[in-house]
Amino acid sequence: MSVRRSPLRADVAVVGGGAAGIGAALGAAACGARVALIEAYGFLGGTATVAGVQAYCGFYTRGAEPKQVVAGVGQRVLEALQALGHDVTPKEQSTGNWILLLDPERLKRALDGLVLAAGVEPLLHCRVVAAEERDGRIDSLLCADPQGLFEVHAKHLVDATGNANLAALTWPERMRPRRQAATLTARLSGLDPACAYGKDDLRRAAADYQQRTGTPLARGNGGYFVPLPWSDACWAMMVDVDLPDCTSLSLAHAEMQARAIAHDYLLSLRRCVPGFAGAQLEVTGPALGIRATQHIASQGDAILDDLVHARRHTDGIARSGWPGELHPRAGVTEYRWIAGDDWFHVRYGALQPDADGNLWLAGSSIGADDAAFGSIRVMGCAFATGQAAGVAAALSSSASRAPLRAVQQTLIDQGALL
Ligand SMILES: Cc1cc2nc3c(=O)[nH]c(=O)nc-3n(C[C@H](O)[C@H](O)[C@H](O)COP(=O)(O)OP(=O)(O)OC[C@H]3O[C@@H](n4cnc5c(N)ncnc54)[C@H](O)[C@@H]3O)c2cc1C
Repeated sequence: MSVRRSPLRADVAVVGGGAAGIGAALGAAACGARVALIEAYGFLGGTATVAGVQAYCGFYTRGAEPKQVVAGVGQRVLEALQALGHDVTPKEQSTGNWILLLDPERLKRALDGLVLAAGVEPLLHCRVVAAEERDGRIDSLLCADPQGLFEVHAKHLVDATGNANLAALTWPERMRPRRQAATLTARLSGLDPACAYGKDDLRRAAADYQQRTGTPLARGNGGYFVPLPWSDACWAMMVDVDLPDCTSLSLAHAEMQARAIAHDYLLSLRRCVPGFAGAQLEVTGPALGIRATQHIASQGDAILDDLVHARRHTDGIARSGWPGELHPRAGVTEYRWIAGDDWFHVRYGALQPDADGNLWLAGSSIGADDAAFGSIRVMGCAFATGQAAGVAAALSSSASRAPLRAVQQTLIDQGALL
């Protein structure tokens, strides 16, 4: 293996361009750090664009009087979307949760603008394939882009990969499995908005699918469909699959199985659901939505007790206001509710896989038990933990991690809600 290019140097290297990576990159850049933002795909947005998850959760608490719990970089992203004509009014769901609908194309454009304006160096089509570790610190990243291999050297690094992939490249022996079902999202167009449909119609479509194929649809309720008010389309989560790990063989099997189900199930939707007779599968994914297959313990994991008691902590660096939404296996969704439909603090230690290294965790890669993971993983909270990780990385010296109070004060100065 030969590396022919000279290394790219940065103060902070952020791996992953999703909500957490955007939070980290903009948070660190606002502290004056030179930031490299590394993303495997050709656009930013993470699961919202890569896997077509068209809603931000976690900006607001649940219930009749929702409170905004994420601002800072997350708020700037909402404002950038608004400037492109996108409506960012929160919408209440039947669960009592509040979501903000997304248009992936406007989101990509909004994030491009923010990253460039902040002076962040974006590296797209670039995948981190190895990390060189010495005495608990990461010396360099080995990256692959279509031109070949090159190294990135940074004082501090942020794992914003969504599944702790950078931690796994660095310390495979410290990784623990986390089982969460994966979902292939879809956008269906050509719907008749004049036709109303309900839960019974969707259940009938799932039963029709089972009768035709001999296999039950994992989402026996027929799936989750959200009309997109700016088009005749809807965003659909109807295909769940179990994903044991992220080897390319497992991923290939899961992607192909999920696509086959999506195409087959469309026929049942057309037959059974009013307004779907002319439905078209406009897009799947593009990629399978992976909730988690692995995680790494941190110095201060978010835990079920924090969530059910809406705990405040003096070392809090972000608020999490989404309930614990768990997908333990395909077709199963369970909730753990936050006391009083309130929010709980994510602690500074959740960003740190060890006491004095130079790797920071962000977004759905932070330390959390399975129940709290169901809350902190959503994209609203990922902006907040990402911003905290980016600020902490930028304020840290090459020898030690930044003091908590300095990180908290800087986050407040940047408009974050602690
Ligand atoms: C099917 C599904 C439905 C969901 N529904 C919702 C919802 O409605 N609302 C909500 O808010 N949340 C939802 N979530 C959860 C949420 O999308 C994720 O938990 C969240 O996106 C995590 O943000 P992140 O920035 O940490 O990671 P991600 O959004 O996953 O972004 C990680 C980025 O890192 C990149 N990357 C990974 N490894 C590498 C590497 N080695 N080199 C370079 N780049 C790399 C990836 O390409 C990706 O762009 C859902 C998740 C799934 C899977």
